[in-house]
Amino acid sequence: MVAVTIVKDTGQRALVPPFEPEHEELRATIRRWVESEILPCQAEWEERREFPRELFTRAAELGFLGLKYPERLGGQGGDNLHDAVWAEEIAAAGMSGGVGAGIGAHTGIATPPVWSFGTDEQHERFLRPAIAGEKIAALGITEPGAGSDVASLRTRAEKVDGGWVVNGSKTFITNGVRADFLVCAVRTKPEGGHGGISFLILERDMPGYEVSRKLEKLGWHASDTGELAFTDVFVPEENLLGEEHGGFKLIMANFQWERELMALGAVGSMDWCLRRSIAYAGEREAFGRPIGGFQAIRHKIAAMATKLEVGRALTYHALRLLTSGQDALAEVTKAKLFTQRAAVEVADDAVQIHGGYGYMREYEVERVLRDARLGPIGGGTDEIMKEILGRGLGL
Ligand SMILES: Cc1cc2nc3c(=O)[nH]c(=O)nc-3n(C[C@H](O)[C@H](O)[C@H](O)COP(=O)(O)OP(=O)(O)OC[C@H]3O[C@@H](n4cnc5c(N)ncnc54)[C@H](O)[C@@H]3O)c2cc1C
Repeated sequence: MVAVTIVKDTGQRALVPPFEPEHEELRATIRRWVESEILPCQAEWEERREFPRELFTRAAELGFLGLKYPERLGGQGGDNLHDAVWAEEIAAAGMSGGVGAGIGAHTGIATPPVWSFGTDEQHERFLRPAIAGEKIAALGITEPGAGSDVASLRTRAEKVDGGWVVNGSKTFITNGVRADFLVCAVRTKPEGGHGGISFLILERDMPGYEVSRKLEKLGWHASDTGELAFTDVFVPEENLLGEEHGGFKLIMANFQWERELMALGAVGSMDWCLRRSIAYAGEREAFGRPIGGFQAIRHKIAAMATKLEVGRALTYHALRLLTSGQDALAEVTKAKLFTQRAAVEVADDAVQIHGGYGYMREYEVERVLRDARLGPIGGGTDEIMKEILGRGLGL
């Protein structure tokens, strides 16, 4: 593997393995796209509480929805490293959390289980149109009564001739309002616990599938977050994903990559905040000089840069282990835990450095702070990350 050194415009980042020059080219392509087609529109999408559906087809046209999927399904034939570049770069380029989450839920958490656990026929029916941006995907695990405690989910799938009848509900589902299909965790055994969970692909036009509510949120305004209700939804046998009763394994496998992607996104967001803050501190004057000349501001920026580099080091370390096929549970968990909280702190520092302007919509740092607050909650909370780490240490 070749190690190359590319110093980015912040002067903070030297490229290290596992990234190679082709990944840097992808990074530059993503950045150009975000700057030219996303940034000019995203304030309006935040207001509208939704980005246009056509953004999926546009992203597909550019190959972004199929970076890690094979060419025979319309993908780019890359791998998880390309996906990693995407997750970091969209945030570093300033894409809002809501737009990033909508596309990211589709590419990063809802379609991967279809790829890993699906049959050839399911790849054709669901993955191919998802890669083409024709069908929007969502992942449905969380329920009103089951969040951190995934094994307590209650959406029930009862076996009937030719399939299952599903009753229950899901909440906080990213893309939930307009998803064409939902990769959905259901209980296929009446007794509780890990053993009786399966995954079914529910389709929006199935009778009894209802979007009960679109939720208002602190951040991620441009993404549609839905609450879903299922009343006697018949799901045919061919929509079973993976093994019957084997869904808990799928949930755990999916979580590792989701958490790594969230860590990468937080690194990108901290990078954006740092660059913005350095630029602002150089321009804004108080008491007759740029505020960057004040020790308090300089030290705040130095601390931000340190958090960014610690977060990046942890995240890349976990990425190297993951992409070389090693167990990286502890490393991914640490990266997720550290970066999500650090991104909130760094965004808060950026707001502070911008003074009153930091509180204003037009400077965007307030949005980044609101968007960042989901990090320590979504994909497994800080407390759950600490539980995993504590248990791994034998406690
Ligand atoms: C904007 C948004 C988008 C989301 N997108 C999706 C999605 O697309 N698909 C999906 O399935 N889910 C999604 N989620 C759900 C998300 O993963 C959950 O919110 C998260 O897992 C936490 O679950 P909960 O909200 O039920 O909190 P709870 O589990 O009720 O936790 C409440 C508090 O109790 C703490 N707690 C719980 N158990 C323990 C414990 N054992 N020890 C110590 N503390 C504990 C938690 O850390 C937290 O502080 C989304 C959530 C949001 C807000």
